[in-house]
Amino acid sequence: MTTPRWSRVLVKLSGEAFAGGQEFGFEAGTIQFLASEIGKVHNSGVEVAIVVGGGNILRGAQAAAAGMERVAADAIGMLGTVQNSLALQDALEKIGVDTRVQSAVTMSTFAEPFIRRRAIRHLEKKRVVILAAGTGNPYFSTDTAAVLRALEIKAEVVLKATNVEGVFSKDPRKFPDAVKFDEIDFDYCIEHKLGVMDMTAFALCAENDLPIVVFSIAGEENIRRVVFGEPLGTVVSRRAIDN
Ligand code: UDP
Repeated sequence: MTTPRWSRVLVKLSGEAFAGGQEFGFEAGTIQFLASEIGKVHNSGVEVAIVVGGGNILRGAQAAAAGMERVAADAIGMLGTVQNSLALQDALEKIGVDTRVQSAVTMSTFAEPFIRRRAIRHLEKKRVVILAAGTGNPYFSTDTAAVLRALEIKAEVVLKATNVEGVFSKDPRKFPDAVKFDEIDFDYCIEHKLGVMDMTAFALCAENDLPIVVFSIAGEENIRRVVFGEPLGTVVSRRAIDN
C-alpha cells in the first residue's frame, strides 16, 4: 500500500519501550530508535499524537501494593510519563521533527497545558504532539489516557506499540499453541477475557467504535508498516473477520 491507512493516529508507547533492556529508567539509544520510528510516520504526512506511559519509572498500583498511598503513587507515575515525554521530544527535535509536549497536569515550565483545540492545531501544522501526565487523574492508566485523547483529537485509530506481537488466544509465554489474531472484534475480546488494554480503556474504545492496533515496537519500521496497512499485529475493532 502506498497511501497511509489513516491521516491522524494516536500512538501509545508504554514506559517499558523507553527502558530498552533495562528494568527501569530510560535508555538513550532506545529513545532515539523510538524517535526515528515516529519520524518516519510523521514524514509520510500522517498526523501523529503520542501518549507515553511511565511504567519504566513507577506504576501506581504496584507502589500502592508495596505500601505507598495510591494517590501519591499515581502522581509519581504521571510525573514519570512527563519525563519520558520530554526525553522523546528531545530525541524527535534532534532529528528535525517539530514537537510539542502538552501535559494534563499544569507545569508550564516544561510543557504546554493540554488544550484540545491547540493540540489539533499543532497536528494540522504538522507538529508531533506528545500528551503527557496521562489523564491527570489517579486510578487511571495511560492506556485510558490514550483512548480518551484519541477521541478528543479525533484520531482514527489507537496504535498500541508494545512488547508483544499482538493479541493471542491465550498467553503465548505460557502456551506454545497460542494463536495470534490478525483481526478481532471488541465483543470477542470481552467474551474471552482477552487483555488488550485495561478494562476502562478498552470499554471506552468499544463504546466509541475506535479501532486499536496492537503490535510489537521491536521490529524496524513497525509503526510505519502498520500505518501503511501491512498486516502486522492485531486490529481490534467493532467488526472483524477472524473470529
Ligand atoms: N497514571 C495515573 N493516571 C493516568 C495515567 C497514569 O495515575 O491517567 C499513573 C499510574 O500510577 C500509572 C503510571 O502513571 O501506573 C504510569 O502509567 P502506566 O502504568 O499506564 O504506564 P505504562 O504501563 O504504559 O508504561
